[in-house]
Amino acid sequence: MPINVTAIAGLPDHVNDVRIRTANFINTEILPRESELFVRRKGAAVTEAELAHAKTLREDIKAKVKAAGLWAPHLPQEYGGMGLDFLAHAYMNEILAYALGAASLFGVVAPNSGNQKILLKYGTEEQKRKWLLPLVEGVMESGYSMTEPENAGSDPRSIKTSARLENGEWVINGHKWFTSNGLAADFFIVMVRVADESGKGRMAQIIVPTKTPGVEIVRGIGIWGSGSSDHCEVKYTDVRVPEENILGRVGQGHEAAQERLGAGRVFHCMNSVGQMWRAFDLMVERSLSREVHGGLLKDKQFIQGMIADSYIDLQTARLLTIRTAEMVDRGDPQARTEISALKVYVPAAFHRVVDRAIQIWGAAGVSNDLPLAQMYLGARTLRLADGPDEVHRILIAKNVFHHYESGESWNFAG
Ligand SMILES: Cc1cc2nc3c(=O)[nH]c(=O)nc-3n(C[C@H](O)[C@H](O)[C@H](O)COP(=O)(O)OP(=O)(O)OC[C@H]3O[C@@H](n4cnc5c(N)ncnc54)[C@H](O)[C@@H]3O)c2cc1C
Repeated sequence: MPINVTAIAGLPDHVNDVRIRTANFINTEILPRESELFVRRKGAAVTEAELAHAKTLREDIKAKVKAAGLWAPHLPQEYGGMGLDFLAHAYMNEILAYALGAASLFGVVAPNSGNQKILLKYGTEEQKRKWLLPLVEGVMESGYSMTEPENAGSDPRSIKTSARLENGEWVINGHKWFTSNGLAADFFIVMVRVADESGKGRMAQIIVPTKTPGVEIVRGIGIWGSGSSDHCEVKYTDVRVPEENILGRVGQGHEAAQERLGAGRVFHCMNSVGQMWRAFDLMVERSLSREVHGGLLKDKQFIQGMIADSYIDLQTARLLTIRTAEMVDRGDPQARTEISALKVYVPAAFHRVVDRAIQIWGAAGVSNDLPLAQMYLGARTLRLADGPDEVHRILIAKNVFHHYESGESWNFAG
């Protein structure tokens, strides 16, 4: 079923234009060929011929995306991207996510896309030439190496990986895990602590080529029952890289990570909304056609309840995400609270909607024939990644109390 997108009254023309062009592309070029394009979802059953066909098809689609002016929505035009503003990008994400995996065909591949943004903001001209351009051109891969097995990822200030300057080189020692894309990456952006007179050290980000002696990819950590993944455990032992590989200044590491995640959370949630939209369409489609116990699913009240609850979940998640995107776009200082609210609410709502869609589809719901099983795991994972629910709840409460303590009540209509 195609995504049903029409112009939204009140949105700037350029945002509606991007939405409609993206939807047309998704509906005509991607959805009809999903099973050929994302053939890896068949797992062990996939043949060499199918893989080769998928590769050719993917390159063909990428060329069409570029010709349609829809390539790399997160990048400025001078780096081959669309040069979209924040709001247009958020609205485009919702539509891209309707076809699970399609974003990669539009040049948006995590964690490369997040790293590209960091390099754009903090990179020197030389760093951009050396690391950003090859990343944009697709001739290099990257990873973001922050979380550590021995320390709480939900409290990034607890990281222990150290870096010290010695004869014009950073010497890095530490232990990370869940560095995504670790098996393919040519370089990592590594979050470190640089010793200072305070004794606590200040956070910084350093570019480390993965082939540097002392970088050990210990394993791709198996997740969700699979034997392996590209989320890697990495050890750094006396790793030496040139002093100029630091991104920004010592002390800017935490700020850069928060920035990467802050806006990223709105985009992730817009992705979730797009996937919920797809799950919703799928569950309605099935309810209208599947006969059980002498009638269509659509006529059973249990099913009607699931459709109604999913409708409510989707609408509330979408409205909260769009409201937050608008606040971020206009630089509203209260957006920080809203970002945390949506980061708690949207993945949970996404989880509920996909859960119901799976229930309605029965066994087919957990099969690789539909995107629902993959969405389900993604929704659950999102409640941990980019700050677990609890951390965001704490932040919401802190901001609210701070507001009231400073003599003002909350303006929910603001
Ligand atoms: C699939 C996947 C991909 C990832 N990719 C990357 C990546 O590319 N790079 C990277 O650096 N990291 C990555 N991560 C790691 C992710 O960012 C961390 O898992 C996350 O930040 C949580 O850290 P943690 O796992 O150490 O959990 P912990 O910090 O140990 O927290 C465990 C649990 O404690 C609870 N909790 C935490 N704080 C509080 C509190 N104050 N009060 C009450 N309860 C609390 C929460 O429920 C939390 O889930 C990835 C994770 C996953 C699952």
